[in-house]
Amino acid sequence: MFDRLSSLVIALTLIAIAAILAALAGGDASTIAILALAGFAATAIVHAAAPAPVIEARAETAAPPPAPLPSLLRHPDFARRADQEADPLLGTTDNIVTVANDAAIRLLGRHIVGADIRTAIRHPAATEWLAKAADADTPQEISLVDFPRPGQRWTMRMAALSGGDRIIILSDRSAIDAADRMRSDFVANASHELRTPLAAILGYVETLQDMNGDADAGMRHRFLSIIDREARRMQQLVIDLLSISRVEADRFRRPTTPVNLAAIVNNTVAQLRDSEEARAKDIEANLGSEPQPMLGDAAQLGQLAHNIISNAMKYGRAGTPVTVDLAREGGRVRLSVGDQGDGIAPDHLPRLTERFYRVDEARSRSVGGTGLGLAIVKHISERHQGQLDIASEAGRGTRVSVSFPLANG
Ligand code: ADP
Repeated sequence: MFDRLSSLVIALTLIAIAAILAALAGGDASTIAILALAGFAATAIVHAAAPAPVIEARAETAAPPPAPLPSLLRHPDFARRADQEADPLLGTTDNIVTVANDAAIRLLGRHIVGADIRTAIRHPAATEWLAKAADADTPQEISLVDFPRPGQRWTMRMAALSGGDRIIILSDRSAIDAADRMRSDFVANASHELRTPLAAILGYVETLQDMNGDADAGMRHRFLSIIDREARRMQQLVIDLLSISRVEADRFRRPTTPVNLAAIVNNTVAQLRDSEEARAKDIEANLGSEPQPMLGDAAQLGQLAHNIISNAMKYGRAGTPVTVDLAREGGRVRLSVGDQGDGIAPDHLPRLTERFYRVDEARSRSVGGTGLGLAIVKHISERHQGQLDIASEAGRGTRVSVSFPLANG
């Protein structure tokens, strides 16, 4: 009821009162002193013998260990959700693959489940990265170059969970890399194509200046016509570069304007027949009399027809016909241009629509080609849901055709 200190104070107070009462009752000094000493001694013994106060033990008592958190990887929804992910996704516990979604199994094989992740991925950069503890210094994403095959590149991202669990996601970057490479190749090629005629122009201008009026009229005329030809080549290149960038920018914008393909092709044929081209008179057009309605960009479709027909004029043999046909095929209309020329070897066919790809560079240059004509055709065709087809027979000739859906088809 009383704590130890209070009991001691009370006891001493009672002894002091007893001693005072004894003194008042007339006891002698030594009796009072002995009584007080005995009282103090008794009190000290009682105090020493009293049980030590219990200091309340607080939360220091060890609590039972917390139950481990349930693993996200073993959640029933996890595997289902992982399968919906298009990129390969893996769940690992202490580096052993416990979950692999469909995309991961397609990429790495079914045997990876239960295997060590480092064996499953088998790439030095991945092995090194996985060996590191996941801390703030560990990069969140690494590149796997030449994975799974030479020339390909994937990235690997990891999220570390509790209890040694990890989620690993792989993403294919090969197509992005190829697009980047194509872009930088394109800039390099375009610069090279512009530099060549520019160097010729500067060279001939310098020669004419050095001659200081000594050159005879014939030589001056020859040099000036080279300058003129090279400047026109540059001009055509700039026009084609602008066209390709415009066409590429419009790539995903479906045309919505109703146009008549027959009228557009007829216009292009008329322009080429009226041109100074040596082969202008060789064009034989069979466009029919009915309109060919489709949704399109008239200027782009005119350019497509122009590029295909002028290629046939450039690469067909002099004096042979260039045929231009327009015909319906079910719900589509097909523009088909044929020539009688040297043709194209089959291994070149798939690459003809690449920018600056030429079968014979010198030949292309000699006929004023820029190497961009068919790349522009391909883009315009794709924008109009066209199907481009190039068929060629070595020594006989080439037929380039594009079919488009008719507006009422
Ligand atoms: P270019 O400006 O060089 O003609 P294109 O992109 O129009 O570029 O064509 C690419 C290459 O395809 C040409 O350099 C040429 O080698 C080949 N080619 C295109 N059309 C024909 C054709 N009708 N006959 C033979 N080869 C052709």
